[in-house]
Amino acid sequence: MKLLIIFFAFFLLAIPCLNDFKNKSRSIAQADEDQNEFSDSAADVHHVMTAKCLDPFNYDEILEYLNSVQHHPSMKQSYQQLTDQDNFPADSQCNDVLCAIKHIFGEEEGPMMLYLHHRFNLNTSHLVSHIASKPNVDELTQFINGVHDLPPHLFLAFRNQTFIRFKRGYINTNFPTQAATAHFDSVEFYDRWARQHPVFKRITVVHELAHIIGMARYWPGSGIDNTTEWVELSDWQRVEGNTWKRPESNQLFVSNYAMIRPEEDFAESVVAYRYRPHFFKSRSIQKYNYIKNYFFAGKEYLDHHNCDATPSLIELAEDLDNDQLDPRLFNIADKHLILYQQYHSRFE
Ligand SMILES: [Zn+2]
Repeated sequence: MKLLIIFFAFFLLAIPCLNDFKNKSRSIAQADEDQNEFSDSAADVHHVMTAKCLDPFNYDEILEYLNSVQHHPSMKQSYQQLTDQDNFPADSQCNDVLCAIKHIFGEEEGPMMLYLHHRFNLNTSHLVSHIASKPNVDELTQFINGVHDLPPHLFLAFRNQTFIRFKRGYINTNFPTQAATAHFDSVEFYDRWARQHPVFKRITVVHELAHIIGMARYWPGSGIDNTTEWVELSDWQRVEGNTWKRPESNQLFVSNYAMIRPEEDFAESVVAYRYRPHFFKSRSIQKYNYIKNYFFAGKEYLDHHNCDATPSLIELAEDLDNDQLDPRLFNIADKHLILYQQYHSRFE
């Protein structure tokens, strides 16, 4: 019964996400020809492989990070939130968090899960969620790749965000055809996700992150994924509640999936912004600019330059002591600035 209630709650709160991608692999030559193709999803393997400013998974860098913060008190907090334990296992003979985490979750999996929690506030542990399985190395790799594709300061607004590999062999009966779903209190990745091409796993991770970052809970006031401004940019027509009329023309959209409702339009637009910015710009410069300002704080991925530059909105917010910006954008800029400064001063 409890499970039923939980599933019902999910049904009310959840945003169903990317369906299984069908037959997405194609040769690079073909993909070149299809550079401007409009299809079911906003990005394909080729687009990710040729995207700018990528920071793919590197196990040594993860260990380097964990070693650099191993004496910080926040490591113990990560340990507690991942294991629901205060002490290290008696049979482990461990004196530090990294050792104990390896003992509990595995030599490779443990450090990856600790990294995702400590640096990005994402909790992938099956020990604290009854609907999770332990993620394997391949799955954790795509979690990390997806996370690395977004501005790191955005993750500081999360608090121990549940981000799980849903129980293997089971489906969430409310979303039997989905690869993954994003809820207010958890993000779930299903068997369908696990069967995707590795690069599609990564694209789905970014899509789901776009949902939970776009949601109301994240921003001061309201979410950025269904504002009047966003809805009007694509000419969305509300039928009632959160039911929308599917637009007749796909001209302003980056994929078929984006045309389901404004929130999917938003998540797909974040994916296109990250991996296919020129294509997205050609679809709608106004929507491109909206995602640029509100989500990426002005950081762009059009070329290899300025990958490490401070996002322009953050620079603007630093200088602002007046009301030149409209109040909503000012609030968002301010939140970006706070998170950005926290991120860069985190372990000073
Ligand atoms: Zn979605």
